[in-house]
Parts: sequence; C-alpha cells; structure tokens
Amino acid sequence: MTTTTLISTQEAIALEERYGAHNYHPIPVVLARGEGIFLWDVEGKKYFDFLSAYSAVNQGHCHPRIISALIEQAQTLTLTSRAFHNDKLGLCEKYMAEYFGYDKVLMMNSGAEANETALKLARKWGYQKKGIPENQAVIVAVQRNFHGRTLAIVSASTDKTATRDFGPFMPGYQIIPYNDTEALEKALQNPNVCGFWVEPIQGEAGVFVPDEGYLAKSAELCKKYNVLLMIDEVQTGMGRTGKLLASHHENVRPDILILGKALSGGVYPISAVLADDEVMLCIKPGEHGSTFGGNPLACAIAMTALQVIKDEKLPENAEKMGIIFRKRMQELMQRYPEKISAVRGKGLLNAVDIKEKDGKTAWDLCILMKEKGVLAKPTHGDKIRFAPPLIINEEQMNEACDIIAEAVAEY
Ligand SMILES: *Cc1c(COP(=O)(O)O)cnc(C)c1O
Repeated sequence: MTTTTLISTQEAIALEERYGAHNYHPIPVVLARGEGIFLWDVEGKKYFDFLSAYSAVNQGHCHPRIISALIEQAQTLTLTSRAFHNDKLGLCEKYMAEYFGYDKVLMMNSGAEANETALKLARKWGYQKKGIPENQAVIVAVQRNFHGRTLAIVSASTDKTATRDFGPFMPGYQIIPYNDTEALEKALQNPNVCGFWVEPIQGEAGVFVPDEGYLAKSAELCKKYNVLLMIDEVQTGMGRTGKLLASHHENVRPDILILGKALSGGVYPISAVLADDEVMLCIKPGEHGSTFGGNPLACAIAMTALQVIKDEKLPENAEKMGIIFRKRMQELMQRYPEKISAVRGKGLLNAVDIKEKDGKTAWDLCILMKEKGVLAKPTHGDKIRFAPPLIINEEQMNEACDIIAEAVAEY
C-alpha cells in the first residue's frame, strides 16, 4: 500500500475510528493536500484553512522555501543525536538567539517538551541562583492555562478533561486567576516561587485576551520579587497576534521564552526555549535533552521558517487582516445578536462565541462552514477559534468572511 492510495472520506474516517486511539474528536473532513491558505479533501473539495493546525502553519501550507530547506537537508543529514556536534546546530542557535534577542537557545521537538524544559530550567535556577531550599520550589500558573499534555504540565491544569483519572499529579504549583495582578503579587511574596508561567493570550481556553498592561505589570512584579517570567508563546508567537511575539505588544521580554508550532512552519515538530546565560547555564551536560532536539533537519527548517516570517512581513499582515476579520465578525454579531455573543482576539488569533440555538451549537456551525468551504473548530464548547495562515490577503479574507456570514445566517 502506498501513500497515494485513493481513499474516500468515509473509508478514511472508518479506519481511524477502528485502528486509532480515540483521543481526538475531529471535524469530519479528510484532508489530502495543502497549499498556502487552502486545503483540499480526498474528494478534491477546496477549503479555506481557518485553524492553521492550531497556529503551526502561520507561513502557509507547504511553503516552497521551507519545503526546499527540508528536502535539501533531508538528503544530506537528518539526525546525529547530541552525542556529536552537527554543522547546523550552532548556526541555528546563533540565528535564533539573535532573532529573538537572547544569549542561548535549547531546542526540543514539541511544544509540551519546550514547556517541560522551561519548568525544569526555572526550578534549577530557583535552587542554584535564588537559593530556594531543596524540593521546595513553586511555580505560579494561572487558571484555564494550556501548555501541553505531559503529566508535569497537566498537573497545573484546571481543565477536568485534561486531568480526570490521570493523577497523582506533580506538586509544586500555585494556581491563581488569569489577568489578576493582585493575586500574582500575593503569590510572588512566597520566597520559594521560582517562576510565573503564563500565555500572553490564552489560546486553547478560547482566545482570552487579558487587560492591556497585564503582561507588563506581571513582568514588573516578577522583577520585584526575583521570579522568572516564563512566557508560553507556542501559539501566540511567530507573528500570529500582529507582532513577532505577543509579548512585544507590551514591550515585555520574558526571562524564559517558550516557542513551538510555527517555529517549523508546520512541516516538522520543532520547539525551543530561549533564555540568558544566568538561567540557561544552570542546566549542565547530561541533565536534560532529547534524541531529536536540535537535529540538523530541524535546524535547517527552523532557520528558513523564521526567515520567511521576516521576509514576508507576516506580523504586519496579521495585524491588518485581523482588523478586517474582527470588523466583519462584529457586523455579524450586530445582525445576529441571538447567535453570536462575543468577538475577540488580536492579529489573526481570534474567537467568536456562539449561542446555543434550537439545540444547535458551535459544533454544528463549524459543520455548516465546512460544507461551505471554511475549516475551523470549536474550543471549549461554544467558542470558535479563527486563525488562518498569516499569508492571507484582503480579498481572500473577505471571501472567507462571506462564507462564514452565510453559514451564520443559516445557523
Ligand atoms: C499547542 C500548545 C502547546 C503544546 O504544544 P504541542 O506541540 O502540542 O505539545 C503548548 N502551549 C501552548 C500555548 C499551545 O498552544
């Protein structure tokens, strides 16, 4: 059997249902091809992609430059492990360190692994530099956070779906409300706190944008109490919110910057943590790592994916297209207040809250949109996240909004 075997939508879904674990509940569409902002299903029907693989394909599907870098490096050298040096790692680390403005980079694969790395790094720093007594380090996290699916990470989750029957959990967290700097200041007074771990906008939770000044005030408090600010930009980074990093909207520079998803342009799992020497050099040889982390294939892809963001001015375009999108959705909300209860977001990370109507929900609206040619998925029940690749232009944005409007009218 080859990968070009023709398969119908029904057949492909039935195979996944029969042989795959049931750990996802996908929209019933079977995708077979992608280019730029578009996807095609196995029957050849074309769709606007308004999810971008959870913001991993900001540069667009199968970006020619990123795919070229992938092919060229794949034909040369893919993996050496970190038992040896490779000729791409240092170049990539230098490129990323300068690109984001940090002393050092630690490359991993998934976003969850980058977050795990950040947690370990913050604890190490806490013991070695802040002088926290052994095994007493505390990391402050917020309600409704999403940082991935490993046990250490879900130990800080407040989402029952992510935690039910997975205990016992890792201790050492204090959970406070999001967007609450008073609660943060209180928590940071505990001298055993080593890090404050936060998303600049809560993506998975439904695109919750905190009040203006929240991140800047958080950074100020972290400095005051000698606590590391650990910002998870896995979803909000890489131009998604209209700046290279969402932290840049408030001129915040995290002590530990956590990246993933579009760091690879969606062609390969690549994640990274960036920090300055005072923090990064707390981890010594043998204390942390990954067989695939920092492999030459990942390095070649990441450098190109980042260069594309710059060359194609993706943050600037995200900012402009986001304004158009929210304006169109706000018009829809005024027209259908019984169907839409909220529109929010920044750049091209947006969400629309859908009211239940005659037993129908956001899921049904997503199915309607799919039938009309726009792919998006609900998150946490009644919220639909809209996040197309950042290369979308004005005409395409308006065409997609027309389709969304048609679906909302029918809903
Ligand atoms: C997707 C996501 C992660 C996890 O990334 P994976 O590659 O799925 O492990 C972590 N943090 C945030 C904010 C995310 O959106």
